Order: sequence, then structure tokens, then C-alpha cells
Amino acid sequence: MSLKTMDRPVKWKGALNGSQDAREANAWHQAMEQLDRAAQKIRLEQYILERLRHAKRTLTVSVPVKMDDGTLRVFEGYRVQHNLDRGPAKGGIRFHPQVSMEEVKALAFWMTMKCAVMNLPYGGAKGGVICNPKEMSIGEIERLTRRYTAEISIIIGPDKDIPAPDVNTNEQIMGWVMDTYSMTIGYSAPGVVTGKPVDIGGSLGRREATGRGVFYITQELANVKGFDLRESSVVVQGFGNVGMNVARIFAQHGCRVVGAADVMGGIYNPEGLDVEALAEWSNKHDTISRFPKGRKISTQELLELPCDILIPAAMENQITHYNAHRIRAKYIVEGANGPTTTEADRILAKREILVVPDILANAGGVTVSYFEWVQDIQSFFWDEKDVNARLKDHMVRSFRDVHDIHTREKVDLRLAAFMLALRRLAQAVRIRGLFP
Ligand code: GLU
Repeated sequence: MSLKTMDRPVKWKGALNGSQDAREANAWHQAMEQLDRAAQKIRLEQYILERLRHAKRTLTVSVPVKMDDGTLRVFEGYRVQHNLDRGPAKGGIRFHPQVSMEEVKALAFWMTMKCAVMNLPYGGAKGGVICNPKEMSIGEIERLTRRYTAEISIIIGPDKDIPAPDVNTNEQIMGWVMDTYSMTIGYSAPGVVTGKPVDIGGSLGRREATGRGVFYITQELANVKGFDLRESSVVVQGFGNVGMNVARIFAQHGCRVVGAADVMGGIYNPEGLDVEALAEWSNKHDTISRFPKGRKISTQELLELPCDILIPAAMENQITHYNAHRIRAKYIVEGANGPTTTEADRILAKREILVVPDILANAGGVTVSYFEWVQDIQSFFWDEKDVNARLKDHMVRSFRDVHDIHTREKVDLRLAAFMLALRRLAQAVRIRGLFP
């Protein structure tokens, strides 16, 4: 591209070639379609779009681990920093057999957008290791975590890139990240990672933050649409940290959670599930699939249940052109990252099913991560009431910002959220200019 054409606004190129299935399964492709659409709408300069279509930094590491049986296995891991224009990079680490560089890049891009929607002073990052922690011992997971952290320690740090939990990673794992990084530099650096245990600089309220944020956003949705949340039926896909806390917090506020599922299968009870009993069952059996009080259903059937609010809180690529026609929810609030494909978005829009996008709906986690990092830097810790009140403020403010664009510019909520994020991000890119 010549310098003269750099500031021309973008033209929408539409979908790339390849089969529909392959396109939907490729998270990076989905992410770029979303970006292109928003870029065209705000008439973003071509040179800024070009920069955002590339991750700033991608690192692939091999992670040798001594297994319990004495053998050595080498795992592949990634850390991607998509953008640093608004501040240090921020985003979780996932351990999953289906992790790939393309997926991690997409997730890092969505973190850039999420932090901009929430107006947090961060860019976006993500990390992942291809592994199946369900088949590993706790010792193997610790050694994997420590070696992966050591390998990516050349690019992370409290001012550079701050990891956090994501799929299959938890507080203990973040504690090992903190310890490993601290051992390498020779002093304790709690600000290098968020979502760690409270005893070593974690924040109160961080564990429930994503679920609580989903709830605050849904409350705002109910306010603007004029329905009563306590009379609504809710279905939750995923029963990890996000899904379980979503179900609990909605139930605590008097909503009827009628369906829930994890990877092993789901459970449906139109009268409402006993969510606390379900959470206990899940902690004990590692799955909710055999919970006795309800009808057994598959994870796919769950998505198609009649309900007011459907909350996909598991993985990407769940609502696609295959099932979008059969969704019977009135509203979808995305607890997971990237659960709805762009094709499904088009189908749902035609069917007037409103989707509250991931980069807004699930941003409670990274928002309290930001609070945790601020507390670590200041060595001054807040009580849980303050954390939750500030979280609510942030979620409500961002919902209103996005909703204003949605009504004023007559675009769906995803496009509105991307437009808001992109406007903020583009301004940072313009002001900072191009080095050298
Ligand atoms: N993994 C979470 C997300 O996707 C949290 C990231 C963070 O706290 O940095 O938003």
C-alpha cells in the first residue's frame, strides 16, 4: 500500500473464499469479518485497519514437561499480543487440546476490543497451551505452567503483558505464574498476573467477576427492553468458572435457570434447576451431566431450548448457520468469547433475536482484573463491596455507550460495540503515529 492511499477509508470486502464450515470454525477469520464490518461503518482509515489485521507480536514456545511416569513430553504453547496502543497487553491463558495459533490470535484481538469497549488502559493478548489438563495430574499441570511461564517471561511483565485465567486455568495456576515470574526476576511481582489467590495479591470478587458482569449487563438489557428479569427463564451453556457463577448469580437474584450443560451433557427443568445443588454436584463429580433433578439433554439440544435468555459460556463457534434457525431464546448474552459466528449473527438478526456481544457481556472478568492490577501496583486493597460497586459502574456505563450507538446509528449491538472500541483504539493509533 502506498503512503498516499494510507488514509482512505476501507471498503467492505465481504466473506473470503472457502467452505462455510471452514470459515465458521476459524476464529481469526470470524474476528476479521467483524473488524472489517465495523471499520467500514466508521470509515476507518485503511492504514489503521491494516495494522489491526495483524497481531503485533506472536510467540510460539515448546514446553518440555517431565510426566509422572518419568517420560518427557513436549507441549506447544503460544502468547500473542495483538495490540499495545492503549496500554500493556492483557488477556488470559487457556489449556485445551484444541488451542491453535489462529484461535489465540483471535482471542487476543477480542481482548483488544474488549478493553477498548470498557475503556480500560490496556491492549489485548492471549495465551494457550495445547494439552488436556483433564488427563494430567496436578503435579504435571504445575510443571507445565511453570515452564510455559518461564518461556513467555521474555514478553510478559506488570508493564508489558499481564496474563489471567481462561478456559481450564484457575487461581492456583495464576499463583504458579506469579511465583515463577517472581523467581526469575528475583523479587515478588504480584502485578504480573491477575486472577491469583487473594493471599498473594489477588482481588476479592475476581472469581465471580465475569458471571457478575454478565448479570449486570443482562439487568441493563432488561431495563431498556422493559422486561422483568425475575420472571425470565435462563439457559446457560458451560459450567466452568463463568457458567457456574452466571447460573448462581442469576438464581440468587430470583431468576429461573431452566437449563445448564457442560462438555459431558446437560440438564433441563422448566420449573427451574436447584443451582446450588447443581454447583455442588459439579464440584463433586466434575460434571453436571448426571444431575438427577431434571431431564438429561445434549449440549446441542440445550442451545435450542425455549427460554428468554440464552447464555453461551463455554467456547467459540457454538451458534452457527447450522443451529441459528432453531434458537428459541429471545436474547443471547455471550458469556464465552466468540460463541456466535458472523453467519449466525445474520440469521439471528433476521429473526429479531438480540445478541449482546462477548466483548461487552463478558468483560466483567478483565474489568476486575484491572482492579486487581491497580490494587497490586498501589499495594492498597479494596473490600468486596467496593469491587462489585465499581464493576457495576463500569458495566452499566459501557452498556449505555454501546446501546446509544445501537439506537442512534441503527446497528446491531455487536457492530455498535466494535464501532465504540474501534473509535477509541483508532484515536490512540492516530495520536501515537508511526514509528520510526
Ligand atoms: N480470560 C478472560 C477474558 O477472556 C479474562 C482476561 C483477563 O482478566 O485479563 O476476558
